Parts: sequence; structure tokens; C-alpha cells
Amino acid sequence: TPAVVLRNVSRTYGDPANPIHALRDVSVELRRREFTAIMGPSGSGKSTLMNVIAGLDEVSAGEIWLGETPLVGLDDTARTLLRRRHIGFVFQSFNLVPTLTAEENIRLPFVLAGRKPDATERSWITHLVRSLGLSERLDHRPSELSGGQQQRVAIVRALANRPTLILADEPTGALDTRTSREVLHLLSVAAREYGQGIAMVTHDPVAASYADRVLVFADGRVAGEYRDLT
Ligand code: ADP
Ligand code: ADP
Repeated sequence: TPAVVLRNVSRTYGDPANPIHALRDVSVELRRREFTAIMGPSGSGKSTLMNVIAGLDEVSAGEIWLGETPLVGLDDTARTLLRRRHIGFVFQSFNLVPTLTAEENIRLPFVLAGRKPDATERSWITHLVRSLGLSERLDHRPSELSGGQQQRVAIVRALANRPTLILADEPTGALDTRTSREVLHLLSVAAREYGQGIAMVTHDPVAASYADRVLVFADGRVAGEYRDLT
């Protein structure tokens, strides 16, 4: 099964007599192992797409599945549980908790889920931390890390509990060119080698070229789909 399926999803805002159409009848599948870039001008519906997939915003019509579970119609509590199980987030601004160390930030998804990582998960986290060169940084707080290190910590945090899909919103927007390339390479490795489904919103065509597939939004619709831009 695909990681996430949207079928005929619409989202309108404002006055029903004169609505703003943020998403218009969008049908999209996001698969495991696939790194999808989402592009399009400001106001084309990219944030709304991410928000409805994460269950942070409600659809006006249509259906969404996270794995086997339909999202539409669930109450807030059920949506929150589903989000924690299925979705990892990576943001432009890293969104690490400033008072926690790198290690505590990485373990946050487990704390929120009210459980401790088991032995397999602990060795997975150790593997990620080592392969991203963060072993010597685990006791550091975000303010003591470079932007690239902070984003790597955020990516380990997003991968730690093996979510069905990672939603990455302009993950390289605050990074220099070299660090951006490292982060993009890391995301493509996560998809190819770890089987991680990834959807990344970006305005940067170079960033999009790391993806397997590019969806271009315009006026709330998927206006174009491209594969293997490199
Ligand atoms: P982006 O940089 O991703 O394009 P936006 O500025 O479009 O970000 O949106 C940022 C957040 O504000 C999103 O969560 C979006 O849903 C919300 N938002 C966007 N436009 C409006 C609006 N007209 N009224 C209220 N909220 C909005
Ligand atoms: P993008 O992320 O591509 O910039 P958005 O999904 O933020 O686009 O916005 C799509 C359209 O929906 C825009 O016209 C935006 O102003 C509108 N919109 C988004 N969120 C809201 C909101 N909470 N209230 C009203 N309008 C919104």
C-alpha cells in the first residue's frame, strides 16, 4: 500500500458564497521509498496539502489514507495519534526544542508517544547518529550546533520512529549551498536505502532535482508531474 493516498481532496476557505479554493479535487499517492518534491508558486496550495496530510487542517471534500487508516472524519485526539505514528516533520527553521540536548530532541517522538525506544530502535538511532556524524554532538543544545548540524538532528528525529512519511517544508531554506546538498543527499539516501517516503516542499529547482518525482502545484491543482529530473 502507498504511504499516503489523497482522493479527490478539496479544501476551501472563507465565505462559502465566495470561497478561496486552496485545493481543488487533488488525487495524489505518496509511496514508501519515494522522494517527492512539491513545487509551485506562493498560494498554489502546497502548505494546505501538507497540513491536510498531517491532519492539522480538515478537508472540505475527499478522502485521505495514512497507510491503511482513513484520516477524514477522525476527531482531534485520533488524528494526533495517527500523525505521531505516521508522519515525521522537517522544517526550514529546524524546530528543535532549545532547552533539550540533541539526544533528547531525537528521543522526543518516543516521549510524546509515551514509550521508550526498544533495542532495535535504539540501534537504528545509533546508526543514524553515527552515519550523520553527530556522535560527538549528542550532549549539545541546538544553540551550540551549526545550522547543518541542527537540521541533521531534526532529520534523525524525523526518521527515528520510522514514520510512514516525512513531510519536509523547505528543509534547505536556511542552509548554505554545501550544507543544503548534504541534507538533500541524506533525504535521498533515506528514501532509497531506508525505504522512507518523503514529501518535500521547495522553491529551489536544484533541491527538487534530488527527488525521484516532482509535483508542480498551480491554483490548488497538480499542474504537472515529472520524474528523474537529473
Ligand atoms: P508558504 O511560505 O509555505 O507559502 P504561507 O505564507 O502560504 O506559507 O502560509 C503559512 C501558513 O499560513 C500556512 O499554514 C497557511 O495555511 C496559512 N495561510 C496562508 N494563507 C492564509 C490566509 N489567507 N489566511 C489565513 N492563513 C493563511
Ligand atoms: P502555498 O503553500 O502554495 O503558498 P497555501 O496552501 O498556503 O499555498 O495557500 C493556498 C490558498 O489558500 C491561498 O490562496 C491562501 O491564501 C489560502 N489559504 C491557505 N490557508 C488559509 C486559511 N487558513 N484561511 C484562508 N485562506 C487560506
